[in-house]
Amino acid sequence: MNFLARLVSPHSDRPTLPTRSRRVQGVELKTAVEIDIMRQAATIVATVLKEIQAMVKPGLSTADLDAYAEARIRALGATPSFKGYHGFPASICASVNDQVVHGIPHRRQVLRRGDLLKVDTGAYYQGFHGDSCITLAVGDISPQATRLMSAAEAALYAGINQVKPGNTLLDIAGAIEDCVKDSGFSIVEDFTGHGVGRNLHEAPSVFNFRTRQLPNLTLRPGMTLAIEPILNAGSKHTRTLKDQWTVVTVDRGLSAQFEHTVLVSETGYEILTDRERVGPALAGA
Ligand code: MG
Ligand code: MG
Repeated sequence: MNFLARLVSPHSDRPTLPTRSRRVQGVELKTAVEIDIMRQAATIVATVLKEIQAMVKPGLSTADLDAYAEARIRALGATPSFKGYHGFPASICASVNDQVVHGIPHRRQVLRRGDLLKVDTGAYYQGFHGDSCITLAVGDISPQATRLMSAAEAALYAGINQVKPGNTLLDIAGAIEDCVKDSGFSIVEDFTGHGVGRNLHEAPSVFNFRTRQLPNLTLRPGMTLAIEPILNAGSKHTRTLKDQWTVVTVDRGLSAQFEHTVLVSETGYEILTDRERVGPALAGA
C-alpha cells in the first residue's frame, strides 16, 4: 500500500464489509445492505422456531407444526425456503428421534412424550434466505437424549466461536470435532453446513469434522454461513428411506442437530438467526 492510500484510509488493513457484492473463491461476500435484508429473513426464521418451541407438546402432529410455520412465514412477509426445494413438500423438516434430517411432516406423525424433535426451516425474504434448526424435547426426555441435545448445541457454538475474519473453515470444523470428541457421541459426516444468501445452499461447504475435502477458505467479512453439526447417539452412519427424503440412523439411535445462519462480521461473528433477539413467543401460538 502506498503512503497516500494509507493517509486516505488509515484503517484499510482492517477487514471491512464490501461495498459491492463480490465473490472470493466462489463464495459471495454480501454488502451491508444485503446483510440487513438477510438479518430480516433470519429473524423471521428465528421467530417461527421460537414460537414452535413454545407450542410443541404431545398430541400435536408434525403436519400441525408445518402448517403453523408456513402460515407464520407468509404472514411475516416471506416465503418458505424449503417448500418445493428440489421437490420437498413442506415448509419445515420435522425429524423425530432416529430421523436425522429431512423428515417430511405428516398428520400421522403425532408427537409423543419423550420424543426428540428436530425442526429445521428457512425463509426467503426480498431475495435472501435465512436457515436454522433446533432440537426440541417433547415433554420429559431420557437422560441420553438430554445429553445428546446439549452436546449438539455445544458443538454448534464451538463452531460459531471460530467465526472471525482470518480464521478458516478448518478452524470451524476442528473446533466442532474437538468439542464432540469426548462426548461419546458421533458426528454425522454425510451432511455439511453451507453458504447461504441468495441461494438456500451456496458455496462453501461447511464441514463439521477435519477432512481433506475441506475447502481452503479464509473467512472474510460479508460471508454468511449456515453451520449445522448433527450428532448421533450411536453410529455416525445414515440411510435414506423410500420416501427419498427422510434420513435415519442405521442403528435406529437418536440424532440431534442445531443450526444457525451466521455472518462473518468485521470483528467476529453475528448470529443472524439468534432467537434471543426475537421478542417473547406469542402466547398460545
Ligand atoms: Mg436448515
Ligand atoms: Mg442448512
